Amino acid sequence: MTDPRDTDDRQPAAGDTDDRQPAAGDFGGRETGAGDFGGRETGAGDVGGRETGAGDVGGRETGAGDFGDRQPAAGDLGGRETDAVNADFRDIDAGRARVRHVGGRETGARHVGAWETGAEDAGGRETGGRETGGRDSDAREAGAGRQRSGDRTARIAALRPAYLADLDAGTDRFLGPRRTTCPWCASGRLTPRLRTTDLLQHKPGRFALDRCADCGHVFQNPPLTAEGLEFYYRDFYDGLGEQRMNGTFGGRTAMYRGRAEAMLPHDPAPKTWLDVGTGHGHFCATARTVLPGTVFDGLDFTDGVELAAREGRVDHAYRGAFPDLAPDLAARYDVVSMFHYLEHSTDPDRELRAAHVAVRPGGHLLIEVPDPESRYARLLGRWWLPWLQPQHLHLMPVANLRRRLAGLGFTVVAEQHAEAHDPVDLLAAVWLALDHTAPREDAPWLPARPGLLRRAARTALLLAGVPALLTATLVDRFAVRPLSHRLGLSNAYRLVARKE
Ligand SMILES: [Zn+2]
Repeated sequence: MTDPRDTDDRQPAAGDTDDRQPAAGDFGGRETGAGDFGGRETGAGDVGGRETGAGDVGGRETGAGDFGDRQPAAGDLGGRETDAVNADFRDIDAGRARVRHVGGRETGARHVGAWETGAEDAGGRETGGRETGGRDSDAREAGAGRQRSGDRTARIAALRPAYLADLDAGTDRFLGPRRTTCPWCASGRLTPRLRTTDLLQHKPGRFALDRCADCGHVFQNPPLTAEGLEFYYRDFYDGLGEQRMNGTFGGRTAMYRGRAEAMLPHDPAPKTWLDVGTGHGHFCATARTVLPGTVFDGLDFTDGVELAAREGRVDHAYRGAFPDLAPDLAARYDVVSMFHYLEHSTDPDRELRAAHVAVRPGGHLLIEVPDPESRYARLLGRWWLPWLQPQHLHLMPVANLRRRLAGLGFTVVAEQHAEAHDPVDLLAAVWLALDHTAPREDAPWLPARPGLLRRAARTALLLAGVPALLTATLVDRFAVRPLSHRLGLSNAYRLVARKE
């Protein structure tokens, strides 16, 4: 079979010049083989890692963690709360998106048995007693850390055979035929925009984005097949990645509040709100505090939305594809929201038409997506997190989305850039490059668990990167954020559109 390390992370020479940054990719990272980002698994948070017990390096003493409202506590970078970094990464893309389509995600079922046996929660990170101080609690924590690590290793080992069997059949089938026309405007004038690999999970495979020279639409080409979508999403939001994702989405209250408040000038008291691509429903849970009188329903492709209903985060859960469900929801909602959802869809236009069905006349559609015209996209090249390959299938310039909404019978009543900017670009870029450079952490799509030396080397390299991660965090938050719009650096935009 193919060693995934042979397929990952190496860039073809051609077509990369535009988007490859010398600094990171060339560090020798390629020899280190494939692995995972782990946004979830490794996270800067885990720098220092669970294996080594060095989790507190860079620890909270820095105090940097207290600065911001929602950004990764810098103080956490070395510690175990630190999913913060990942958290932010993830959120850029908000979990939501599980949307997509695929039908294939259900196949994850075959893995369920394997991972549910892992006692993920047994040593959960909340159990540590660091707050109580003292050596005893440190010792307990170290024990819990080892336990978590062992559980995780076992779960990965259990998942490995299925992944290796999938990879045995090759990754070519994960990509469909290359498009020769723009999916947005049908123009044939396509230019290469980016070639990259899976920098988050480090699953094997190469991906390309093209840009339409006529309308500016950026899209994955060739696109993932349903099989490919299933393969690359597997264990990201669910399965192996689920707990991490859940913790991630739970921690971004201020951002969720901001999204809910964006609606207030247009409808101060909507009665009904449908959040499409709601994931585990954390946006809805927070939005209730802004709009206590509103009924929040959630829609998602995965069972996370059912969990959200059980936990009371959404009032009603719809599970499935929005375009399929929309006819039954016709004109039912004062507000339909899609936060970082459309870019994951195989067919954004269909999603917009579904939204037009579900919103009542006079109601509003609230959309937030990454902005492919952000100057960061050029500055950071493949290390710009919102490219998020291979998950992001379509990235739409704001003018395109405005036009399409108008064509459907919406009136755009607000366009926001600074408000939608999530100040994590530099932190994410440093992290992605660092992680790309370091030896891989264990992952089920690797042929075997990395040995002790590699794991130690990874830990050492990530620890060495902590100062850079801290610096990037501070620049993101305090230097760039206030100026993001003026500098053309906002990494996302938000539109509010009224259905006439
Ligand atoms: Zn086009």
